[in-house]
Amino acid sequence: MIEKRKWIWMDGNLVPWDQANVHILSHTLHYGVGAFEGIRAYHHEDGKSAVFRLPEHDQRLIDSAHLLELKVPYTREQIDAACMLTLAANGMECGYLRPIVYLGDREVGVYPGNEPDVRLAVIAWKWGAYLGPEALEKGIRVKVSTWTKHHVNSLLVRGKVCGHYVNSVMAKTEAKREGYDEGILLDHCGYVAEGSGENIFIVRKGEIFTPDMSASILGGITRDTVITLAREMGIKVNETRLTRSDLYLADEVFFSGTAAEVTPIHEIDRRQVGAGKAGPITRALQARYMKLVVGGVPGHDSWFSFYQPAEK
Ligand code: PMP
Repeated sequence: MIEKRKWIWMDGNLVPWDQANVHILSHTLHYGVGAFEGIRAYHHEDGKSAVFRLPEHDQRLIDSAHLLELKVPYTREQIDAACMLTLAANGMECGYLRPIVYLGDREVGVYPGNEPDVRLAVIAWKWGAYLGPEALEKGIRVKVSTWTKHHVNSLLVRGKVCGHYVNSVMAKTEAKREGYDEGILLDHCGYVAEGSGENIFIVRKGEIFTPDMSASILGGITRDTVITLAREMGIKVNETRLTRSDLYLADEVFFSGTAAEVTPIHEIDRRQVGAGKAGPITRALQARYMKLVVGGVPGHDSWFSFYQPAEK
């Protein structure tokens, strides 16, 4: 259950948490046309607070809306500021941010109108390890889903669009019901796409492999961070098509995502992955990532947006 905070930012105002409501006729509720982001802010080793890769997330929000032919009535800088204000006003030294672009209640038909009524809200809450407290340490068990990832010409796969997540919810629910922690979605040709809310990487013979950007995947910001860190660490990264066999033959497999961070996978479809625990390259990348997000890796200043939490 989500722990309530004091304020939610809605269309330019901070609104008390319990009053942050939308009308039942919100077009997005009925048809799924909206976009959102998931962003983390971390409490740094030196006591400061910073949002990780905030401009990249907010740009992706604007891009997702653009794919849907929606014009967000705020600039990227204004959305950045709204995100930081929401964390600061709630006195949060760290936390998870959820900006969401959605449509109001002006149009009830499928066509959202010539000038859609585009709204923006920003919610912040505390979110620990997305896949459970032991996941980061011990790794998780996943299953290849019976659900297929969207065809690239069915949906706007590069967007983080509300309605896309029906597919993710189906895969996640199936995995949980069958006793797994998460699902992996294959595309309509059978190639590996991603997790229900994460990008996927495999390690084989000391090199890293991940589906390339022509796949039906979200262009994960954590994916990009992991690739950058891996290259800095001298690990070869291959962006390429992957099959189910590649998953089963991998020495190591892990997920990346803002919420999931770097989560090892130790079992897929009841087959042990590698040695059945987080492998050395996954561990090294995970440690580097966790150090980076709290300000411990020099050279990535532009990835941090510092803010000052209000006194509680
Ligand atoms: N794929 C999907 C479907 C997701 O929902 C997410 C989470 N936003 C990701 C990948 C990972 O993206 P990011 O690293 O930007 O959080």
